Amino acid sequence: MTPNQLQFQPGLSLSSFLHDYGTEALCEAALEKSRWPKGYICPACESRSHCIVWHGRVKTFQCNRCHTQVTLTAGTIFHATKLSLVKWFQAMYFMTQTKNNVSALELKRLIGVCYRTAWRVKHKLAQVMSEREETTILSGRVEVDDAYLGGQHPGGKAGRGSENKVPFVAAVETNDQGHPMRAVFTPVKSFSSAEIAAWALNWLAPTATVVSDGLACFRAVTAAGCAHAPQIVGTKRKSTDMDCFAWVNTLLSNIKTAIVGMEKLSVLVVLLLVVRFLTWSRLTGSPAYLRGQFALKNSLAATRLSNPCHR
Ligand SMILES: [Zn+2]
Repeated sequence: MTPNQLQFQPGLSLSSFLHDYGTEALCEAALEKSRWPKGYICPACESRSHCIVWHGRVKTFQCNRCHTQVTLTAGTIFHATKLSLVKWFQAMYFMTQTKNNVSALELKRLIGVCYRTAWRVKHKLAQVMSEREETTILSGRVEVDDAYLGGQHPGGKAGRGSENKVPFVAAVETNDQGHPMRAVFTPVKSFSSAEIAAWALNWLAPTATVVSDGLACFRAVTAAGCAHAPQIVGTKRKSTDMDCFAWVNTLLSNIKTAIVGMEKLSVLVVLLLVVRFLTWSRLTGSPAYLRGQFALKNSLAATRLSNPCHR
């Protein structure tokens, strides 16, 4: 069994992954530890006294006091699927450990399931990961930058004026050691003060200190109670060369790399890419030591549904 809850190795290698999560029993232990880090608690009466009952292959916890039964996978996206936990964990591994997006077709080959299953698994995981992002609130030091992404109509204007480009706010929270902790990437209607004020109220804690360039609209983060530390970016000094924007630049360059060659994609597709990209932000925007731990731990935690239905 793994030490701590889901103690993934830095830059988790495939062999380490197989060592830690290569069997159904290891995956069950990891899921149990993730759901009940201090041991099982009955959701009905909060008693810790329980026994294990097996319904076929399904591990079920039965309360010794009120006899309520809860399966290991109840209230998670693994519930009521025929796919083994081993396959789910493998899918999470491949979806979070590779820099490039894994297609459903690749996933089918990698984990040995039919295309339909691979497609469902991929979309379910992407969905829960993006739902988890939606509840993210950034605090502490937060690097913020503006970006335009998306294609352009044939013959249309390129760059900032392009009618088919979507404005986004990119933001990365860093800790005291300067390491990236969380990132959000949000489409906005425009870079107006009103839009940025609304964005800040949604995504930032009042304790956040926003580090941005001099773009006037970013002053509006103070509407959410945040401190604002604009950095002077001159003509000689580009924001991409400035250490204070290191992580938000990494985030943006990863997205732009991903979108190269996709200029003709519609706005909708670009928005869908955000889900993909939020996974990368944890991976490619994070130093190696965070990569395995952060991404897989989050994706596993995200597999828990917000409204669990107990058996
Ligand atoms: Zn009970």
